[in-house]
Amino acid sequence: MRGAVFLGNRKVELRTFPDPSPGPGEVVIEMKASGMCGSDLKFYRAPPGEAQKALGLGGNAEPFIAGHEPCGVVVARGPGVSEREAPIGQRVMDHHYSGCGVCPHCRVGWSQLCRAGITVYGVTAHGGHADYLRVPARTLVPLPEELSFAEGAAVACGTGTAYGALRRMRLAGGDTLAVFGQGPVGLSATLLGAAMGARVIAVETSSDRLSLCRAFGADATIDASKDDPVKAIRDLTRGEGVALALDCTGAAAARKAAVQCVKTWGTACYVGEGGDVTLDVSPDLLRRQVTLIGSWTFSAMGMLECARFVADNRIGLERIFSHRWRLEQADEAYRSFDTQSTGKGVFLF
Ligand SMILES: [Zn+2]
Ligand SMILES: [Zn+2]
Repeated sequence: MRGAVFLGNRKVELRTFPDPSPGPGEVVIEMKASGMCGSDLKFYRAPPGEAQKALGLGGNAEPFIAGHEPCGVVVARGPGVSEREAPIGQRVMDHHYSGCGVCPHCRVGWSQLCRAGITVYGVTAHGGHADYLRVPARTLVPLPEELSFAEGAAVACGTGTAYGALRRMRLAGGDTLAVFGQGPVGLSATLLGAAMGARVIAVETSSDRLSLCRAFGADATIDASKDDPVKAIRDLTRGEGVALALDCTGAAAARKAAVQCVKTWGTACYVGEGGDVTLDVSPDLLRRQVTLIGSWTFSAMGMLECARFVADNRIGLERIFSHRWRLEQADEAYRSFDTQSTGKGVFLF
């Protein structure tokens, strides 16, 4: 089979691998869609293994097949996997983590929180930018029939991460929500937040992305390359600030602004990976009773819930994709995504 490998330092190569066959407890998925996620850029840009190490995901420098938003069809089951667990031909997304399988985190579907060490498919083991993907059967999440494979791929990381954060912030209809960064995760947060009944203020520095997010339900947009987002958000909220702010950039300035732009008793949440932030703790947090949350993706069942929300509310997630690629275009696809001015990209098979 073919698989696209990150060699580090912005090099992607299409290589040939043996077709995987499932071991005990495993299945093989024939890939139909494999999404490109913002965090892939960290692995794409860094020297081999460095980004994984920096994110606390082990320092495996061996080239692996990229892609952690896998969506496809079950084509083979290993020993011990029942028909009911993974019917051949079932349309599935993959919750792209596996842990020890028995600890409390693993048992409730939060395997990425396992303390015994985790595998992240597409990051520390072979992922979805390939014709086939071998994973434990317990990582499969059924794809609702209303959703396309590409939509399933988006839910499998970027959109699911936005959904998980909005739930963790307890977004309620009528809330005001500021979303910093309108890449694949931020754009999803804008789309889902608006569908959940929030008034969304989108903050971004790329004018191409800013023009997208109005069509995705943003009530107001702020170009942070021109205007101070904290002041602009206060101006848009009668000086109060927003109830909720979500940082999807990972940039220190945006993280600080996300905390400063919430109103008294407001909540800020970080999903952007890596880096750091400096806060002036008393004025930024204490004096205004601010809650600050970190949110890392979602559980397997959270992913199913997100997919159901997208289907039931007819979100039309296909809109989020600005680029659809073939696997042989992997190099061009990542060079385009690397500009961080586009919408989301996906490989279709
Ligand atoms: Zn575990
Ligand atoms: Zn991701």
